[in-house]
Amino acid sequence: MPSGSNSLMWFRKGLRIHDNPSLEYAAKNSTQVYPVFVIDPHYMKPDPTAFSPGSKLAGLNRIRFLLESLVDLDSSLKKLGSRLLVLHGDPGDVVIRCLKEWDIKKLCFEYDTDPYYQALDAKVQSYAFENSIEVFSPVSHTLFNPVEIIQKNGGNPPMNCLSFSKVAGEPHWLSSSLFTSLSMIPPVGDVRNLEVSDVPTVKQLGYEDTQEEEPPIFKGGESEALRRLKESTKDKEWVAKFEKPNTDPSAFLRPATTMLSPYLKFGCLSSRYMYQCIKEIEKEFKNHTSPPVSLLGQLFWRDFFYTVGFGTPNFDHMRGNKICRQIPWNNDDELLAAWRDARTGFPWIDAIMVQLQKWGWIHHLARHSVACFLTRGDLFIHWEKGRDVFERLLVDSDWAINNGNWLWLSCSSFFYQYHRIYSPVSFGKKYDPTGAYIRHFLPVLKDMPKEYIYEPWTAPLSIQTKANCIIGKDYPKPIISHETASKECKGRMAAAYELNKEKNGMVSDEDLQNLR
Ligand code: FAD
Repeated sequence: MPSGSNSLMWFRKGLRIHDNPSLEYAAKNSTQVYPVFVIDPHYMKPDPTAFSPGSKLAGLNRIRFLLESLVDLDSSLKKLGSRLLVLHGDPGDVVIRCLKEWDIKKLCFEYDTDPYYQALDAKVQSYAFENSIEVFSPVSHTLFNPVEIIQKNGGNPPMNCLSFSKVAGEPHWLSSSLFTSLSMIPPVGDVRNLEVSDVPTVKQLGYEDTQEEEPPIFKGGESEALRRLKESTKDKEWVAKFEKPNTDPSAFLRPATTMLSPYLKFGCLSSRYMYQCIKEIEKEFKNHTSPPVSLLGQLFWRDFFYTVGFGTPNFDHMRGNKICRQIPWNNDDELLAAWRDARTGFPWIDAIMVQLQKWGWIHHLARHSVACFLTRGDLFIHWEKGRDVFERLLVDSDWAINNGNWLWLSCSSFFYQYHRIYSPVSFGKKYDPTGAYIRHFLPVLKDMPKEYIYEPWTAPLSIQTKANCIIGKDYPKPIISHETASKECKGRMAAAYELNKEKNGMVSDEDLQNLR
């Protein structure tokens, strides 16, 4: 027997072999390595009462993506002489049981800033310390360590992306090779009394494995992530000239951005490796674009939200969140459901929400459109409600980025120009005057002439009849008048901003009630 001891590699995100310092450390000087993923029923169990297929917390698109990513990880581990051990139950309890049962001396997992993992990791770490188990938990999900950035910035997170990138500087690992040096992983030991399974299928988890009308847009896993990264960066000029605000939200046959977000979310793709690849390309172009609009800049946005999310108590709430404006949002479940279920009567908004349901992904500016419409633009509904819908439906659903962007779009934090509202009619038309995007995602409107596709309620009845789409019967009438609603929203935002200024952030429930 070689010298060494047993290690446990606990996968959560970071579902990859490349740039995986935890895995490399687990493999170093160990006799046996147990690579583990714990399926938490709380996250994975079907919830038949939810508004769309999936569990209480995640839509089926994301669950499927995760399972595919685990299958791919298992297959890569097998090539290295190992395999993935899947266990079921509360992750903290299960990992502690594994540590005991397998006589683990070294526990390795990627550091995670999400509040859920912070609590979970504290529990597991405390058991490990009490039992003299070494814990190795490096930062590899983000470009920078949020803790270090906050320290460098005097104890608070930088509050905009540019100052974030100034504080952050160049990452220290930039010139290192982030591709794996692993050629073998020590064998998996005896699993003894613990029940270990292969990666389950969606059917085994209790979901109906329905045949989709269209093939799924994403296939989970590191292999697919690396393939897509290669594909996205093939056109070097496109990478070097990338300007996010100029990308087209209505492009669906060939979307205008990389669509790598689900892979970054689950860590099938290392953001650090992606950064290196882009940086290499930029070296070849003197006039490449720069953050915050460049492709590299998009990765800075990601790190920026991770850092602010980590450094702000109650980041995911309005109340108790010191960077969030207190706004007397409406509570209207019917309007919320109409938005969520693509029944607003505004084809641009509804088409986006259908794409979100079907693909689990929409373009950034499409996210802007529907988030603005739900909150400060038209319906004046709480951003937390919209956040919850996105959290469930997005394959790339990410605690820090999702909350950060909802704070932004609702003008609750970061961005304060509440008078700048996305029109649910003219914004989409600018990119897609013929309405090809709407026709694709809302086939009920496919024969509506282009003059009316963004405002079908203005089409004469004869045109509606010819297009086989009677407004109010086959497709809803608009649930609000945009002109009136947006004016009202601006007035309410102005009053709320005034109140926040007056009260210097100490807005009470009663103050908010008085503004309603
Ligand atoms: P690209 O433009 O190709 O960018 C590359 C990567 O940079 C992305 O994959 C992503 O990881 C990162 N990135 C890009 N834009 C942003 C941004 N504004 N903030 C932070 N990171 C960014 N992104 C998520 O990954 N998860 C979410 O839950 C999420 N929720 C959002 C909610 C709202 C209301 C809005 C307006 C945006 C949200 N975004 C979220 C940010 C952004 O829309 C997506 O990251 C992006 O559209 C993903 O597509 P892409 O991979 O093609 O992006």
